[in-house]
Amino acid sequence: MTLKPLEIYKLLPKKNCKECGDPTCLTFAMKLSGGKAKPEACPYLDENAKTILGASTRPPVRKIRIGVGERAITIGEELVQFRHEKSFFHEPGIFIAVNDTMTAEAIQERVIFVRDGILTRVGTDLRLSGIGIRSLAGSPEPFARAVGAVESVADLPEVLMAGDPAVMEAGLFVCGNYRPLIHAASPSQYREMCRLAKKYGCPLALKADTLDSLAELSGHCTAEGVENLVLDLSSPSLHAMLNASTAVRQHAISRTTPALGYPVCIDTSRGGHADASLITGVTKFGSVLVCDDLPEASRKAVLVLRQNIYTDPQKPIQITPGLYRVGTPGRDAPVLLTVNFSLTFFTLQGYLEASRVPCFMLIVDTEGLSVLTAVASGKLHEALVRDAIAKYGLAGEVSHRTLIIPGYAAPLSGRIEEAIGWKVLVGPRDAADIAEFLEKEWKT
Ligand code: SF4
Repeated sequence: MTLKPLEIYKLLPKKNCKECGDPTCLTFAMKLSGGKAKPEACPYLDENAKTILGASTRPPVRKIRIGVGERAITIGEELVQFRHEKSFFHEPGIFIAVNDTMTAEAIQERVIFVRDGILTRVGTDLRLSGIGIRSLAGSPEPFARAVGAVESVADLPEVLMAGDPAVMEAGLFVCGNYRPLIHAASPSQYREMCRLAKKYGCPLALKADTLDSLAELSGHCTAEGVENLVLDLSSPSLHAMLNASTAVRQHAISRTTPALGYPVCIDTSRGGHADASLITGVTKFGSVLVCDDLPEASRKAVLVLRQNIYTDPQKPIQITPGLYRVGTPGRDAPVLLTVNFSLTFFTLQGYLEASRVPCFMLIVDTEGLSVLTAVASGKLHEALVRDAIAKYGLAGEVSHRTLIIPGYAAPLSGRIEEAIGWKVLVGPRDAADIAEFLEKEWKT
C-alpha cells in the first residue's frame, strides 16, 4: 500500500536531527512519499517502521535486468500508471526473434541487423535491444545450435523461448551465464523452470491463462526462491492484451496485488496484428516485446515512439549551450542564435546542413524551453545573449558583427541589438525556411 506523507511521518522518530540530510522529519516523510529518499537514510527507525516503510516505498513494479555488459537492459521499477503523472523510467526492450529451424547464416544476419542498427535522433542513439530465440524444432540440439549461432556474432540480451525444460536447459548451457530471460514457466512445469532460473541466475517469464492464475503462479515461483519474474500477457486478441496489461499495471501501482508487481512481456507474433501489438506494448506497459520481423520503416517508427514515451514529460530534452559549427565556417560565416531545446537545435541543424552554408550556431541556455516559450517566459533575454557571445568568444571567431535571431524572438531584436552592439537580423519562424533566408539576406 502507498502511504501518504503524514502516515509516513507518524512512523518516523520525530527527532528533527537532520542526520538523513533533511531539515525535519516531515520533509523527509514528504521525500519518502515521493520516492526521492530511501528509509535507510534515517538511522533511528525501529524494526516495525523499517518493515512498513520498506514495503511502502519499494517500487511497485520489480526491477529486472536482462543480459550483461554494455547492452544489458533494465526493465520495471515503474511508479505510475500514466506517463504525465511523473515519468516512465525503463524503456521496453525490443527483441527480434530467430528460431531453431533457421540456418546459422540466416540467424547471424538477423542478429547483426540488431547489433549494428542505430537510429540517431535528437542527439541520442536508438537501438533494438536484443534477440529472442524460439524453439520450433522442439528438441535440445537445434535449440542449442541456434543459441550458439546468436552468441557467435553478438553479445546482446536474449530471451530464450522454449516450453520444454530440457530444451531450455540446452540453451542455457550455451548462454546461461549471460543472464537471458527464460521464457516461460507455466503451471505445469514451473518447478523445473524455477530450478533452471536459480541454477543460472536468470530472470523467469511466467505464462498462465488468466490473471488470477498468473498471480497464483508468481506466488508459487517466489515460494521456490525465484523473485525476478516477468509476466507474459501475449494474446491473439489485441483487446485482451491491452485489458490485461492495463489491469496488471493498476494492480501493481495500487499495490493491491503484489503478486502482479512485475514487468510485462508481450510476444507480438500472437494474432495477426504484430505492428499494433508492438505499438500497444510500447505505450501500454510492455517491458519485453518480442517481434518476428521488423521492416526498416516499422523499426524507425517504434524506436522514435519508444523514445518519446520514455522521456520525462516534465523535463525537456536539452543540449549543452555553446558555439556549434555546421560544416567548416570561415570568419565571414553567418551566426544563428537559438535555444538549447534539443528538438529546436537538431531541426535547425538539419536544415542548415541541407542548405550547405557553413555557419555557427550560438546556443543559449533557456533550460530546454523552445524559442516561443523562452521568449514568453523571459528565459530568453538580451543579457543571456550578450553573456553567451562573451563566454564563447564569438567576436574572435568571425570578422563581421551580425547575429541572426529566430523569427519568434523578433520582439527582442531591438533590446538584443542594443545590449550586444551587433546588427541583428530576424530570421524565419520556421527552420525549414532558413536556406532561402540565408540565400536572400546573408551579406557580411
Ligand atoms: S534522521 Fe530520522 S529522526 Fe533525524 S530528521 Fe531525519 S527522519 Fe527525522
